[in-house]
Amino acid sequence: MSALFKPLNRLFSNGQPLHDPLTPPPGDTEVKTTTCYMCACRCGIKVHLRDGEVRFIEGNPNHPLNQGVICAKGSAGIMKQVSPARLTQPLRRKPGSERGAGEFEPISWDEALQTLEDRLRHLRATDPKQFALFTGRDQMQALTGLFARQYGTPNYAAHGGFCSVNMAAGMIYTFGGSFWEFGGPDLERAKLFVMIGTAEDHHSNPMKIALSKFKRAGGRFISINPVRTGYSAIADEWIPIRPGTDGALLQALVHELLRTGRFDADFTAHYTNGAQLLRVQPGHLQDGLFIPDASGAEQSQGRMWWDAVTQRPVPAWAEGAQPALSGRYRLADGTPVAPALQLLREQLADSTPEWAAGITGVSAERIRQLAQEMAQAALDQGEDLPIAWTDWLGREHAKVRSKPLAFHAMRGLAAHSNGFQTIRALSILMSLLGTIDAPGGFRHKAPYPKDVPPEVRNPRGPQDVRPDTPLNGAPLGWPTSPDDLALMDDGSPLRIDKAFSWEHPLAVHGLMHNVITNAWRGDPYPIDTLLIFMSNMAWNSAMNTVDVRQMLRDKGEDGSYRIPFLVVCDAFHSEMTAFADLLLPDTSYLERHDAMSLLDRPISEFDGPVDSVRVPVLPPLAQARPFQEVLVELAGRLGLPAFVNADGSRKYKNYPDFIVNYETAPGSGIGFLSGWRGKDGTQSLKGEPNPKQWEMYAQNDCVHFHHLPEPLRYMRNWNRDYLDFAQEQGWRARNTPIIIALYSDVLQQFRLAARGQRPGRQPPEALRARVAHHFDPLPFWEPPLEHAATDLSRYPLAAVTQRPMAMYHAWDSQNAWLRQIHGHNRLYVNPAVAAQQGIADGDWLWITSPWGRVRARCQYSEAVEPGTVWTWNAIGKASGFWGLHPHAEEAQTGFLLNHLIREELPANALGAGQGLISNSDPVTGQAGWYDVRVRIDHAEAPPETDEPLPAFAEQSWPQFAPPAAPPQSAPHAPQLSVLRYFAGRSSRQGKQP
Ligand code: SF4
Repeated sequence: MSALFKPLNRLFSNGQPLHDPLTPPPGDTEVKTTTCYMCACRCGIKVHLRDGEVRFIEGNPNHPLNQGVICAKGSAGIMKQVSPARLTQPLRRKPGSERGAGEFEPISWDEALQTLEDRLRHLRATDPKQFALFTGRDQMQALTGLFARQYGTPNYAAHGGFCSVNMAAGMIYTFGGSFWEFGGPDLERAKLFVMIGTAEDHHSNPMKIALSKFKRAGGRFISINPVRTGYSAIADEWIPIRPGTDGALLQALVHELLRTGRFDADFTAHYTNGAQLLRVQPGHLQDGLFIPDASGAEQSQGRMWWDAVTQRPVPAWAEGAQPALSGRYRLADGTPVAPALQLLREQLADSTPEWAAGITGVSAERIRQLAQEMAQAALDQGEDLPIAWTDWLGREHAKVRSKPLAFHAMRGLAAHSNGFQTIRALSILMSLLGTIDAPGGFRHKAPYPKDVPPEVRNPRGPQDVRPDTPLNGAPLGWPTSPDDLALMDDGSPLRIDKAFSWEHPLAVHGLMHNVITNAWRGDPYPIDTLLIFMSNMAWNSAMNTVDVRQMLRDKGEDGSYRIPFLVVCDAFHSEMTAFADLLLPDTSYLERHDAMSLLDRPISEFDGPVDSVRVPVLPPLAQARPFQEVLVELAGRLGLPAFVNADGSRKYKNYPDFIVNYETAPGSGIGFLSGWRGKDGTQSLKGEPNPKQWEMYAQNDCVHFHHLPEPLRYMRNWNRDYLDFAQEQGWRARNTPIIIALYSDVLQQFRLAARGQRPGRQPPEALRARVAHHFDPLPFWEPPLEHAATDLSRYPLAAVTQRPMAMYHAWDSQNAWLRQIHGHNRLYVNPAVAAQQGIADGDWLWITSPWGRVRARCQYSEAVEPGTVWTWNAIGKASGFWGLHPHAEEAQTGFLLNHLIREELPANALGAGQGLISNSDPVTGQAGWYDVRVRIDHAEAPPETDEPLPAFAEQSWPQFAPPAAPPQSAPHAPQLSVLRYFAGRSSRQGKQP
């Protein structure tokens, strides 16, 4: 027996129990409730503490979201708390040291805040857009957005442009809601569930709970995905599909439904704009726009129908009319018109299953069957539920009809440069089958549905961005036409990321993936200070990682950095922190207050609005300070109007005080939290600030659920009582119905401008054809931009990443428990493809894209379609970060696919001499990071020798020199190749484990 096992053997073989389970544990124990943040689901948790140390985390059975369920990540929060990667004090880059070397010196919070205050005060007084604030997957965008707006900079966004903005934009521009926080599949009543482009992703525990019930109840689950992992593993059928081709499949499905007449014609006529008349007159200034109803009839919403009985145009929703859904007509003055659905039919006339089969790899026969299965579930298997409701026209309905066909989709559709139109196609498919806010279909979550598009507007030009003045508009808005773009007077982008410019007009979540590149290049202008919160933009939150890291280090001719001042706030020693000039230590989620607010991205359920909070269960480690506190402090110091009284004194003493007392308008009664409002805490949703609101949340499992009465739970786009209620709550400014936009006249406005048929703002010549092409008011499929620009014979494989079930982004691959599940990543390759290249299971291989190459290990997998290779996201680390030993396997055999992905398209993408443009969706700016094409080649095998291997033979590539370790103000574990944690050790030994 090896010496290693002798002590263990003694321990387990002496007959003594390790502990007596019936004896109460020693020390002071307590259980506190709060909200998990090991992923973005936000489950309720109970944290068990002994002598002030976290000993155990379990799901909270009283919480509506997870009902007591906890996942591996959630339980492993204990290890995040004790991570040696924690940052413990403010740090400043050592004078004379180079960015990226990681050489820091400690400074006090006073000094850190004073440095920031001085710099930001000067920029605000001179040119506020010189300050840019970009954040990662935080859950405080209502606060960070408010800070940016009050500061007066348009240069603000969170991670959405890099994540799944296409999902939000494609759906919200169609029916006013979207998946995940804003809505989702009603699996309780669904009979067929189709999941597309989703691995183990958003809405983790709730999805698992719902799926298990759905399967037990006999529901059929079909997964369409290039890779069969995560949820797909329990699907009844896996339909493999080539990445970036989902739009073709969805179009073929719509084609089939229209061809066979198997769609919900009544729903389409009355709840969508499918019956509304459009001018079809190429060359006319109003071509492709809806014919206005001149009668002024209130119910028409300004639109017209063609009455199939009288064969005349009538105001939309005219009593007794039978709206035509097909055909072309002429108005009395000869104007050629057609209902929108007719144009959809014509647009998709050639999108046959045979056409889609050649693109997607899914057989035409299967596509036909799938269309019929969907129609059968939605149209034939529904039932009438005795739920009375009143529509916006005042018509009373005694029942709601269920549509038991549910969909869920996410990044697999979104993260392509053709994602917006793909998701438009999905939204139209869901709408034609009548599944929107129907039992068993897609259901909204408050405060959704919103207008199509929502009423929020961004600044439009330099007149809206002025020194010492809040921004005129929200930093991120929802444009309705070219008039809403954010442009300088010469038509160039107003924002550093070029969101809302002609390059990406509907970039409703910004383009954080282009911020560093644009700022480095000074295009559209240089900036002074970039503050990054909780985003690893020097590693897994960047495309083109190697170059981006160099950009952060690059200096101009005068020897100063091209991005002059870089502030990073994070709780952990991520790869990004090495580049900071000023590094601010954030707290862990167990050490702070947080609000998952209805003003932001709440955790609402189908049956009503839900918000929740985190309350600290532990004091902050050492000098860590919540970023929210930093923002409220800075806002007070800078005198931002929403944060100060009329006499300039500070309004809020800290973040909890801000959350309780902030109101969206004086006396509105609407604040960040909707529960226990009113002075005595008796009001829900609206009411005066309640000084005891935090305590009341803490006493009530940290969650507030306002159950809607049953008549307000369905058909909410058109439900009179719900529309009134939503307006009353401030969720919408109006109570008008939200008509589904099968045809998007918003897109047509941009197209008309690009064709020179709309007065006002015009795109630059280099972008005219691009805008006219991509702003098609009806969905169309074509290959992602990068595919079209790549020699596919040289790079035949699509390469994608997925998030593993046990880890969320970069946070968890440092976690001592979770890294035992995934300590490294490999490239998953279909065995037939690998064998063709002579690559055996476990061999090293080169993955080469047009932009670079990465060395990794191959793993055979039958669960990937042959044209795709994939790996887990963000497990590979740079050596020397995250508190891991420099030789930890994450850095040695783990690898990062981002090195192969480019943030800009090839130089000729816009035409010779026309400059570079982001590798993103031309409509929304969604990063096309699933568009990269690669080839794989065998890499040299390690030499056959008994001697220790040379490092290279067992290393992934590229490798980077490790940084200096950051100074710590609290004792931390030595860097170990395997992190260890012994519960209670710190209290026994008086030090950090
Ligand atoms: S699903 Fe996410 S929020 Fe819920 S317990 Fe797991 S890690 Fe925590």
